[in-house]
Amino acid sequence: MIYSINTRFLILGAGLAGLELGRRLKALRQDFVILEKESVIGGLARTNKTGEYYWDFGVHALYSRDEATFDYFRSLPLNCQTINRNVKIFHTANKGKIHLLDYPFEMGVRELPLNHKIECIVGYLLARLKRKARPVTLEDWIANFSGFGIAKHFMVPYNNKIWSCDLSEVSAELVSLKIEPAPFIQFFLSAFGKKVTGRAYQARFIYPEHGIQSLCDYTAKDMTEHIYLNACVEKLNKENGNWVIHTADGRKFHGSIVISTIPLVELLIKIDLAGVEKHYDVFKWNNTYFVMIGLKNGYQFRYIKDCQWAFFKEDESFYRVSLMHNFSTKFPPTLVAEVTQKPALLKKTPDEIKNLVLADLVHLGIIESEDSVGATDIMYIPYTYPIPTPKLESTKQEIRQRLIEHNLYLLGRNGNWDYLNMDGVIKKVGHFVENLEKEGVLGASDRSHNSPTQVRALPPTRKNNCDKGSHITIS
Ligand SMILES: Cc1cc2nc3c(=O)[nH]c(=O)nc-3n(C[C@H](O)[C@H](O)[C@H](O)COP(=O)(O)OP(=O)(O)OC[C@H]3O[C@@H](n4cnc5c(N)ncnc54)[C@H](O)[C@@H]3O)c2cc1C
Repeated sequence: MIYSINTRFLILGAGLAGLELGRRLKALRQDFVILEKESVIGGLARTNKTGEYYWDFGVHALYSRDEATFDYFRSLPLNCQTINRNVKIFHTANKGKIHLLDYPFEMGVRELPLNHKIECIVGYLLARLKRKARPVTLEDWIANFSGFGIAKHFMVPYNNKIWSCDLSEVSAELVSLKIEPAPFIQFFLSAFGKKVTGRAYQARFIYPEHGIQSLCDYTAKDMTEHIYLNACVEKLNKENGNWVIHTADGRKFHGSIVISTIPLVELLIKIDLAGVEKHYDVFKWNNTYFVMIGLKNGYQFRYIKDCQWAFFKEDESFYRVSLMHNFSTKFPPTLVAEVTQKPALLKKTPDEIKNLVLADLVHLGIIESEDSVGATDIMYIPYTYPIPTPKLESTKQEIRQRLIEHNLYLLGRNGNWDYLNMDGVIKKVGHFVENLEKEGVLGASDRSHNSPTQVRALPPTRKNNCDKGSHITIS
C-alpha cells in the first residue's frame, strides 16, 4: 500500500526554523508540510519533563541585539518572565579555594587571587599592544584579544573543554561574530574593583514561564495539520523535475521546493546530486549529553543557587550547568549539566556519565549529597554546535549554490550550518520568506484550501534506523 502526499513546499525539520517558516507560509496561504523525525516538535528548543522537573537542553534565554526580533519575542503571549542575568564562572585557586567570578571572564578578573589577576592584566595589555589585524583561528583570536593570562586561566581550558576539536581548527568567527572584546578602559576599571556589565545585550533576557517549548508550541499552534511527526527523512530524489522525500516508515512526500533545516551533513548523506559530495572535511560539530538533576523538596543547590547558569573550565565532566528554577519560578530546583561527547566518553554508558556528573557536583559542593537528589535524566543530542572551521564558508557557498539550482534551500542553525541563536533563526527565516515574495515564488496557492493532499492511508509504522535523540530516564 502506498502513502503519498502532494504539496508545494517540503520543510524538513520541526525545530524553531521549520516551524517559523511554516507559520509564515501558513499566513501566506501556501501549501506545505513539515517533516519531523522525533515524536515532538521543537528540536534544540524543547522543554523536557521528567516527573515534576522541567528542563531544556541547557540555557535557552530569549534576547537579541536586533530590537525588532526582541520586540517580536516580547509580543508573544507566553507569560515571559524578565530576568537579570546572574552568571558565574568557577575558578579554583592555588590551594583549592573556589572563587566565583562574574561573567564574562574579563569582567570577573577582580575576584581572582592576586597572582592570577596580575597575569590577566599584564596579558591583556600586551595583547592589545601586539594585536594582529585579522585573526584566522580561535587560537589566534584568544592570543589577539585575551592575552596570556586570560588564555591560561579561562579561554584555553574552557574552549578545549567545550569543543570537540583543536582550537587551531576552529575559525575566529566563532567568537568574533558573537563577542566584542571589552574596551581596555572597561577591563581595567573592572579588574581594579568597579562592577562593569559585560555583554550588555544579554544582561536582561526573557523566558516563558512554562519553558522554551512554549515558543515552539505557540509558533505551531495554527498549523498542526501540516506537521508530520515520526517522519524521519531518509532519502530525497527528483522525479519528473519534482522532489520526492522518502521517510523511514515508508511514506512519500512530493513537492517542488525543499527547505531543509535538518543538519546539513545529514542532508548530504541522504541526497544524490551531481556536484555535491557526501562528506566534506570542513564540517565539524559537537554532540552533547544533557544530564538533568532534580532536587527533593526542601533542598537547594549551593554556591550558584541564584544563578541562571555557570561555567566550569577545570576537570569536572561538564562545561556549563543551568538552573531551570532561576529561569521560571514555576520550576522546582533543577540543574542541567552539559557534557561534550569526546572519545573518552564513547565507551561509557548513560548511567556512568550521569554518575560522573553527580560525583563532580557533590565534589564541588553544589549538591550536598546524592541523598538530596529526587530524579535524574540524561539525553544525548547530536549536532548541538556546528563549528565554524576556517574554510567552511567557501565550501558551504558552493554546496548552497548547487542545491538552490534544484530548488533546495538551507535554513536554520544546523540546516545552514550557522552558529545561530533563536533570534538569528527568526530573523533569517523572515529574510528568506521576504526573498521568496520578492522573487514571485509565493504566487496564490493553487488549491482551494491549504492543507496537504493525502493520496493513500498510512501503512503501519515500520521500525526504522533513524538516529533519534536518545532518552534514558534513570531515577
Ligand atoms: C546547548 C545550547 C544552548 C543554547 N542556548 C541558546 C540561548 O540561550 N538563546 C538562544 O537564543 N539560542 C540558544 N541556542 C540555540 C537554539 O537552540 C537554536 O538556535 C534553535 O533551536 C535552532 O533551531 P533550528 O530549527 O534551526 O534547529 P533544530 O532545533 O536543530 O531543528 C532541526 C529539526 O530537524 C529534525 N531532524 C533532524 N534530522 C531529521 C530527519 N532526518 N528527518 C526529519 N527531521 C529531522 C530535528 O529533530 C529537529 O527537530 C542554544 C543551543 C544549544 C545547543
